[in-house]
Amino acid sequence: MRTIVFAEQEKAYAELCIGAGQLGSGVEAVRIGSQDQLSEEIKRRADKVWLIPAQSGAMLEDYTETIADLLTKEKPDLMLIEPTKRGKLIAGRLAALLGTSVLTDVMELSGNGQAKHLVYGGAAVRLEKAVAPTAIATIGTGVLDVLSSSSRQGAVVSLNFVEPSQRVKRVAQEQKPKSNVDLLSAKRVIAVGRGIAKEEDLSLIRELAEAVGGEVGCSRPIAEGEKWMPKEAYIGVSGLMLTSEVYMALGISGQVQHMVGCNRSKVVIAVNQDKNSPIFKQADYGIVADLYKVVPALIKHFK
Ligand SMILES: Cc1cc2nc3c(=O)[nH]c(=O)nc-3n(C[C@H](O)[C@H](O)[C@H](O)COP(=O)(O)OP(=O)(O)OC[C@H]3O[C@@H](n4cnc5c(N)ncnc54)[C@H](O)[C@@H]3O)c2cc1C
Repeated sequence: MRTIVFAEQEKAYAELCIGAGQLGSGVEAVRIGSQDQLSEEIKRRADKVWLIPAQSGAMLEDYTETIADLLTKEKPDLMLIEPTKRGKLIAGRLAALLGTSVLTDVMELSGNGQAKHLVYGGAAVRLEKAVAPTAIATIGTGVLDVLSSSSRQGAVVSLNFVEPSQRVKRVAQEQKPKSNVDLLSAKRVIAVGRGIAKEEDLSLIRELAEAVGGEVGCSRPIAEGEKWMPKEAYIGVSGLMLTSEVYMALGISGQVQHMVGCNRSKVVIAVNQDKNSPIFKQADYGIVADLYKVVPALIKHFK
């Protein structure tokens, strides 16, 4: 199997390349920029790096035609794309140009190109295999097995930019507040749900996270409904999929849409005052209690 990888972030790029290599495939990568922007680290992850020269004023989507041209000529078995907002746009556009569809948010990928992903808001798993010559899949970090990696040659091949039929025009630009939380690589995650009564109480949760050397995440209503935490911090089928060592859910009921984002963590601990809460069926350890009593006790203990 021959795979071409496209990612926006360096970490995802390395992970997708190593993961694709572990499927027993030849791994190639598409990068935008110049030769001198390619680090040795980037090159050693792929057998070949297809380099698209950066175009002044171009948006990431404007490179889709160039990537589609590469796929048409090279006909790899699989194109793996990091599911960032822009990555998803590129995946959709590529699929449209190549007359196929996208295997979205893949959770498991096998060497024969079969992919598993969640459907019905996380209530079921669908097994899919693309019939097109090149399968296009979006796959996040933490999904593929990246335990070991061999070094590759990273031969660099320059591509000609293919002018898009319709360029994306940037009309305004605004700085997004930067989040310094990296939940995807956190070993310990303390996640909070609607069990907290008010935004100020997050300081208590942060204190616990600090005491155990962890990061704070949340359920979707805390980010999307209450807006007490950034959208980038919620865990679940439409948020982050974590593989932390410890996941502690505080005041989270344990709906499937949340649990699929944390159930690959090694240890799941739940604190909920309702003993019938579904989270207790999925947690390794459960504490039936008011989190406002448990959290201060845990902080005291860990400090
Ligand atoms: C298509 C779709 C996609 C979705 N995607 C996501 C997703 O990605 N991530 C996500 O999180 N959700 C997602 N949801 C929403 C999901 O279904 C749940 O509604 C959500 O996860 C519930 O959040 P919660 O557990 O914080 O709140 P609730 O369900 O309201 O649970 C709050 C819990 O806190 C407990 N509690 C209250 N007070 C205390 C206290 N003092 N001490 C201890 N426990 C207390 C209660 O007993 C309760 O169990 C999605 C829904 C749909 C339909």
